[in-house]
Amino acid sequence: MSAVPLRNAKVAASGLRSVSVLGATGSIGDSTMDLLRASPERYQVEALTANTNVAGLAKLAKEFNARFVAVADPARLSELRAALAGSGIACGAGDGAIVEAAERPADWVMAAVAGAAGLKPALAAVDRGAHVALANKECLVCAGEFFMDRAAKAGATILPADSEHNALFQALASGNRDELTKVIITASGGPFRTWAAADIEQATLAQALKHPNWSMGQKITIDSASMMNKGLEVIEASWLFALSPDEIDVVVHPQSIIHGMVEFSDRSVVAQLGSPDMRTPIAHCLGWPDRIVGRAAPLDLAKIGTLTFEAPDYARFPGLKLAYDALRAGNGATTVYNAANEIAVAAFIAQRIRFGAIARLVEETLNSWIRAGNLAPLSCADDAIAIDHNARDMAAALLPQIAAKAS
Ligand code: NAD
Ligand code: MG
Repeated sequence: MSAVPLRNAKVAASGLRSVSVLGATGSIGDSTMDLLRASPERYQVEALTANTNVAGLAKLAKEFNARFVAVADPARLSELRAALAGSGIACGAGDGAIVEAAERPADWVMAAVAGAAGLKPALAAVDRGAHVALANKECLVCAGEFFMDRAAKAGATILPADSEHNALFQALASGNRDELTKVIITASGGPFRTWAAADIEQATLAQALKHPNWSMGQKITIDSASMMNKGLEVIEASWLFALSPDEIDVVVHPQSIIHGMVEFSDRSVVAQLGSPDMRTPIAHCLGWPDRIVGRAAPLDLAKIGTLTFEAPDYARFPGLKLAYDALRAGNGATTVYNAANEIAVAAFIAQRIRFGAIARLVEETLNSWIRAGNLAPLSCADDAIAIDHNARDMAAALLPQIAAKAS
């Protein structure tokens, strides 16, 4: 039987693949381990990491017979050693040990540490030319240009694991770059999609954590409620696929069935669909360039019935518009956007600011940064890391006045 040739022609990817999972105890980590568990004959676990959850990490390490595990909190080394006693599994603690885990010789690395803390370990995996499944979008928002440059120089393969970007990655295979007119990423709209601005302003942590479709870590769930997550994803798409801000559209699609679409010059729009379950994009990255058996529920469109779409509302969700502004400003502005958002989300979780103040703190930090003349071309990833630190300090300094201000 003949068939239309697929652009991603099969490359031999047989045999045992060694994998490391950075952020193994988190939500993406969980989904990744679930897929690895289903195919023990295909994958050998090299290294696993966690921030503080020693018990969860040690349990996974023993189950998967990992060669090395690392916990970011240096004070937990003895606890980790005790939990692994008799297993023969090597371990370390501290940020250096997380980087060491990334440096270990796995063919495929899942970069799923939460936040900008994931940048250095992801770069370590990139620098040795690994296949890096990138869930950590903050890497690209913080230091996108250098991240992609270093990947190209080292011959690393970046596999987009974020669902929207994975959808684009799949859809892009149906055309050439010069035939692309734009990409569209979908947003669920989060729990406050239909809320009035005044109610969004006062939303509680419990309300922000009730995502209608996706089950995810705390930070990204709050970012979804503010639509900062979509802002981060616009920036992420820009670096991953070398797109200008004008080539990236966002459409609100409350059912989260279509994850991303690519429009080509002939006006064909190619979309990727699937149940809202991160195991599907992760399975695509794990199997790439082959396809493995997924673990998500099959898509039942007749049962879903209706797919709907809305334009995003920048007035109620100013964080999304700020992402486009930062992307257009360039010169480190997206690093500032991410850093200020991380400070703002932590302050909201600590109940130091109202939900509505998250975007105000990001906006004020960006404005203050620009007024102070701090926008400047970056020349390396270390520049981005320095900006990240300075912008965090600036956001923390602005926090009390933003907290005190009424909306
Ligand atoms: P999570 O909070 O559930 O898990 C984060 C993981 O990173 C945990 O294993 C934690 O121990 C580890 N970690 C946290 N801080 C660390 C630090 N300072 N040093 C070392 N390790 C640390 O987060 P998540 O939802 O799994 O998200 C992980 C990344 O993937 C984020 O960048 C997020 O934006 C991205 N992402 C997540 C989803 C999702 O559905 N959860 C979807 C797309 C993208
Ligand atoms: Mg996403």
